[in-house]
Amino acid sequence: MGINEPAARLRPRTEPSDPAETGVLIVDLAALADNWRTMARLAGGAECGAVVKADAYGLGLAPAMRALLSAGCRTFFVANVVEGEAARAVANDATIYVLDGVVPGAAPRLVAADLIPALGSLGEIDEWAATGRKPKAAIHFDTGMNRFGIPISEAAQAAERARHIAPTLVMSHFVSSQMRDAPGNARQIEAFLDARARFADIPASMANSSAVFLPQRPHFDLVRPGYALFGGNPTPYAECPVRPVARLSARILSTREIEPGACVGYDALWSARRRTRIATIGVGYADGVPVGATSCAEKPAGEALVGGVRCPFIGRVSMDYVVLDVSEAPREAAQRGEWVELLGDGICIEEAASRAGTIGYEILTRLGARFSRRYLGA
Ligand SMILES: *Cc1c(COP(=O)(O)O)cnc(C)c1O
Repeated sequence: MGINEPAARLRPRTEPSDPAETGVLIVDLAALADNWRTMARLAGGAECGAVVKADAYGLGLAPAMRALLSAGCRTFFVANVVEGEAARAVANDATIYVLDGVVPGAAPRLVAADLIPALGSLGEIDEWAATGRKPKAAIHFDTGMNRFGIPISEAAQAAERARHIAPTLVMSHFVSSQMRDAPGNARQIEAFLDARARFADIPASMANSSAVFLPQRPHFDLVRPGYALFGGNPTPYAECPVRPVARLSARILSTREIEPGACVGYDALWSARRRTRIATIGVGYADGVPVGATSCAEKPAGEALVGGVRCPFIGRVSMDYVVLDVSEAPREAAQRGEWVELLGDGICIEEAASRAGTIGYEILTRLGARFSRRYLGA
């Protein structure tokens, strides 16, 4: 089956499946590779790396990295040493940066796995230099995030101390790149140019996924997308420029008809106004479906697609189950044993997030360990 077939053809029930499964996460590696190529094209002359921290945004580090490697990606970013070691086991020759920098005492582990820390303070430069042999490092400048990075006011000292190491990258990170017109974006670029001037021949990197699309095009020499590779929309003000990668489906375990006035779920948060057909599906907050997707005054409830029809979550999301109002769904699709879609072509990550009062990054990275995971296009 071609990977460009309509999503409906990729539904789990068309795949060989274990009849005992109640939740399936399909990760479309061909779409992931495609998204990387899209970002690489948009990066123009800059190299396109890939941020694969948090187990590749929850989708699986090893399969994601293999897909990215075969698409041509050579530079990866992870958060910490443990992730770096896992990444090194997948990619022998790749360049792997560790965004946490040098955690006190962790330098030998970085050296052993040939990982390059992004140094975020003068003290880290010294600790890294002390490992000898002029080790490679990224120098991370703080241009406004106030979370990590060397303040611009210390750029001269950083350049001085960096004589004892071999900088391979000068970098910074945006506060609000997903907001095209945030005034801070231009200020951060200015500050970064200041610091970068002290590292004349060293490649520079500032752009996460969203920043690739900023009007200033702050691509420099290397862009560092994460979210967009995994199907998140980096341009919330415009149509999504990348393809969905994660498809989440769950199975209907139970159905019933309830009378007006009957309540559903813990604490009886929802009650039927009319006779209602309902269905219980086999995923819950232990699988990463946020409790916040319960309907409340601030926002509508989560939704699932049942036979192509949107059906709202009713009552509180529980650990292992969500209950749906399937009154509007085709009867044959709302039966015990049938599959419903929670994320995919019909319901994007951003929509699921806004219906749960959270952000798409959290939806992705919380997709639980209990699903059976299937990788397409490997
Ligand atoms: C997570 C991260 C990225 C990737 O950001 P996305 O918004 O997921 O593209 C890039 N750079 C740094 C420093 C990060 O922490």
